[in-house]
Amino acid sequence: MKILVTGGAGFIGSHTVVALQQNGFETVIVDNLSNAQDTVIQALEKIVKKKLTFHQGDCNDAAFLSEVFKQHTIEGVIHFAAYKAVGESVKSPLKYYQNNLNSLMTLLQQMEASQTRNLVFSSSCTVYGQPDQLPVTEDSPIKLATSPYGNTKQVCEEIISDCIAAHMPIKALVLRYFNPIGAHASALIGELPIGVPNNLIPYVTQTAAGIRKELSIFGDDYETPDGTCIRDYIHVMDLAQAHVKALQFLQARSVASFYDTVNIGTGEGKSVMEVVKAFIKTTQVALHYTIAERRAGDIEQIYANADKAKRLLGWEAKHSLEEALGDAWRWQQQLEKKKS
Ligand code: UDP
Repeated sequence: MKILVTGGAGFIGSHTVVALQQNGFETVIVDNLSNAQDTVIQALEKIVKKKLTFHQGDCNDAAFLSEVFKQHTIEGVIHFAAYKAVGESVKSPLKYYQNNLNSLMTLLQQMEASQTRNLVFSSSCTVYGQPDQLPVTEDSPIKLATSPYGNTKQVCEEIISDCIAAHMPIKALVLRYFNPIGAHASALIGELPIGVPNNLIPYVTQTAAGIRKELSIFGDDYETPDGTCIRDYIHVMDLAQAHVKALQFLQARSVASFYDTVNIGTGEGKSVMEVVKAFIKTTQVALHYTIAERRAGDIEQIYANADKAKRLLGWEAKHSLEEALGDAWRWQQQLEKKKS
């Protein structure tokens, strides 16, 4: 089965290409390299030990996508390509709506034209906002989005479900990711934040590497056991494996149209302080940190009920937080080695 992976040079996309290749899928990577480097493709080729198909281009470009669909018999699509910086989306909402919505619509049109049936869409637990009940299930109410980025994820989910309700012959699974962290065990691919990282783990690893002076822990006065925010951190290779399972699930379903949403998390909430302590213990590296003000817009706590993923896809997270932190740290060290 040949899979088009849009955004396949990005953090989650690149790790998913590895998982797909290792599970017998062929891949066609599309990426405009707006937030990734083409060296990722070479690193991927080193990991999977073969030449990979890569087309540099933009999913908003219908002519480009149409050419990709003409060149390859695509049987399934995983759509990762999107802008993902929450803060930037607040400053440049149009950029986010234009890119994230338009690229999905262009892709759906191309899938319809080429009769491609299977779609896995990258969504996020951000659609739940601060849930009233924890752990959060797929039936938990969708809350008003707190950023244009979050809104694009909600609207994209609606676009797909509306198309399927209108009998577009597509089988789609929307995966709502919790917090992906870690890196491939080879340390050849990982997260490559541009500039100052917004996310916790790249900030932690960059601080441990001496690139940042200290980590600010945003708030220790939340209504949680240690006062810091709680998230569900999932190893990116576990997340990658969920995409393999999702495609296998769709492939096996002999219906014309299908739509469902699935949480992809570990089911376990960890506080920022727990993550920091686990990082220090696992890596034995000193980490300077300080308690800072709460970050505007942060959700106090969220973690997944991941039962549906197990029931429907036969998937569950296998890697521990410690493994993920160790892999993230090895990746950071690898980056530092390359610089010197
Ligand atoms: N966080 C922090 N310091 C940082 C970055 C993040 O304390 O430099 C906290 C943040 O407040 C949140 C958690 O780490 O509670 C995860 O943040 P991240 O941005 O990685 O993910 P998200 O908030 O999108 O779930």
